[in-house]
This record gives sequence, structure tokens and C-alpha cells, in this order.
Amino acid sequence: MEAAEAVIRAGMLRLGAGMLEQLLAADNGYRGPGPDCGNGHQGEFAAYRDKTFDTVLGPVTLTRAWYHCAACKHGFAPRDAELGVAGTSLSPGLTAMNDTAAAAGPFAKAAVLLEKLAGVTLTAKRVERAAEASGAAQAAAVRERLPGRCPHSVCRVERAMPVADHDASGAELAGGVWARAATMSWS
Ligand SMILES: [Zn+2]
Repeated sequence: MEAAEAVIRAGMLRLGAGMLEQLLAADNGYRGPGPDCGNGHQGEFAAYRDKTFDTVLGPVTLTRAWYHCAACKHGFAPRDAELGVAGTSLSPGLTAMNDTAAAAGPFAKAAVLLEKLAGVTLTAKRVERAAEASGAAQAAAVRERLPGRCPHSVCRVERAMPVADHDASGAELAGGVWARAATMSWS
């Protein structure tokens, strides 16, 4: 029985990874000839490139448009940022699962937990790196929420709300704009 459970689960995971890959393939990530690089420049389309990352269903390969910014001298894929996999090889779902496992004890033990409970194979080193990266991201998010003077020069008010909650005109923004706030240049 245990062997059958393991075999069926492995098969289901492979099937799911294939479905996810197909779903992702519906968008090639092309965002026009000059999308913003994140620093206010226009990137130039270079090619379609593959990126393989781990998910809760196993490894998945994504083909997406790759751009190059001449001013920053770095490459980027807008689709990676949209999917939450820019600069990481773990999906957001697996990152959350990894955080839970890493919080339970040593990273080597977390890697064993992930393998035994979720069927996901990661080295202890990757568990550690991913947990540290999201720990740093959380700490940065907390800092952003601290009250202080609004960095928008036009506001001239002490802000009690996070900068991400309003734009330079003072208009309230919808949620989920933390990433934008983090890349905003403060005047
Ligand atoms: Zn740039």
C-alpha cells in the first residue's frame, strides 16, 4: 500500500507539473519593444530564454522573453517579476512551503521534511538560501510600514500609512503594490 501511495503521488506531481508548464506557456512574456527595466530605462528585447524553477509540483521550465538594459548592463524578464520568480529558482508556493519547513528546525531537517511530506527535493543549502531571502524580504516589508516622513516631496506630511498606500498625488492605491514601493526612487 505504501509503495502504491508513493508511486501514485509521484505520478500526480509529474502530471501537475506538466499542467502548470502548459499553463505558463500560454504567455511568452513579450512585453513590447521597450519595457521598463525597473530603474526607469527601456530594456531591449534579446531572445526567448528558458528558466527552470522548482514548484510544489516539481521542476517546471518556462520560456519567456528576455530583455537587456544597456544603461544598467543587466538582463531581465518582466514575466519573472510578474510570476514572483525573479532572482529565485523557487516558485512562490514552494517558497511559502519552504518557509514553514525551515521554521520547524535545522535546514537539513527541513529538506527531509519537504521530501517526505511534499515529495519536493531541495538541498539543505537551497532551503537555507530561500528561507533567508524571504526573511530578508519580510524584514524589508516591515521597515516599509514604519511611520515617518512621506518621501513624496509633494506630500509634505508626516505619514502614518505605508508609502505604498498612496501615490504622489495622495490618492490611495489598491493593495499589492509593495514591489512598486520597493523600487520607487525617493525624492
Ligand atoms: Zn536599466
